[in-house]
Amino acid sequence: MLPSDNIMIVDTHNHLTKWSPDAGQTFEEMMQAAAAQGLLGIAATDHYDIGSMTPYGAEWVIDLPAYYEDMYPRRRLPSERQPGDPPGFLYGIEVGYLPEHKDRLKALIADYPWDIAIISLHIINGHDPFHSPEKVYRPSLSDTYREILLSITESAAEMTGANIIGHYDYFARYAPQDRPKMLYRHAMCEFDDLFRLMIRNNQALEINTGTIWKLQQARGYTLEEAMPDAEVLHRYLELGGNLISLSSDAHYTANVGRLIPETCAWLLKQGITEYVWFESGKPFHGSFCPSSVDV
Ligand SMILES: [Zn+2]
Ligand SMILES: [Zn+2]
Repeated sequence: MLPSDNIMIVDTHNHLTKWSPDAGQTFEEMMQAAAAQGLLGIAATDHYDIGSMTPYGAEWVIDLPAYYEDMYPRRRLPSERQPGDPPGFLYGIEVGYLPEHKDRLKALIADYPWDIAIISLHIINGHDPFHSPEKVYRPSLSDTYREILLSITESAAEMTGANIIGHYDYFARYAPQDRPKMLYRHAMCEFDDLFRLMIRNNQALEINTGTIWKLQQARGYTLEEAMPDAEVLHRYLELGGNLISLSSDAHYTANVGRLIPETCAWLLKQGITEYVWFESGKPFHGSFCPSSVDV
């Protein structure tokens, strides 16, 4: 029996200290944590954020050939995992979208044999929500989130090689409003347009437990309230979406698999029974095991 029969999940979005300057776990530490959490597999998807500067004053990008040489040989496909095997490992990247660099970003997604390429919006109109919230957030959450979803939709349209649209609700983490959770009703048309495009492009909708954790720990939501807006997911399904990926976006071992069992239990309650991961860009579907964890 696999040690992972409690949560047979592939965690599709994580970072390593060697490649992401904001991370603090080695490859070995992340794999140990994945085994301890009972994950079926885990991906390293380190940051590639042209246009952002690290705290050390360097551009926030990876040496891609060196990353390939280090990571690619370590791959162990979750789909081929046998009883007694350690968790699978996938080679990925999280690309931060900036329109002015889109050609360079498209090329790097095309140039390497990624299992998983995530496109994420970390910066909007040149501003970072963490460092310059006053330049990002408007008095109305609807206005802010409409603008953000338009940019995410642009990123999905431009980066057709990306398999996963990362943390659509990332900007909720730092919004100054008291109840910043991103809701379907904030931007109904924009959500619909994004989902229609993602479904056409076979791009997965990521549920990032980092946002759930942040809303619960720092923004005053209960765990149940911090879960994604059920209307967002129901609309995605209604439009025909069937690619939902799950990630803890762990930068440290303590965060590997964080809130994944609770989120799976919650998704099951919403009638969502399957999740997706990618190997060499090809989707694989897994189903949630019934879990004793309740939310
Ligand atoms: Zn991100
Ligand atoms: Zn990330």
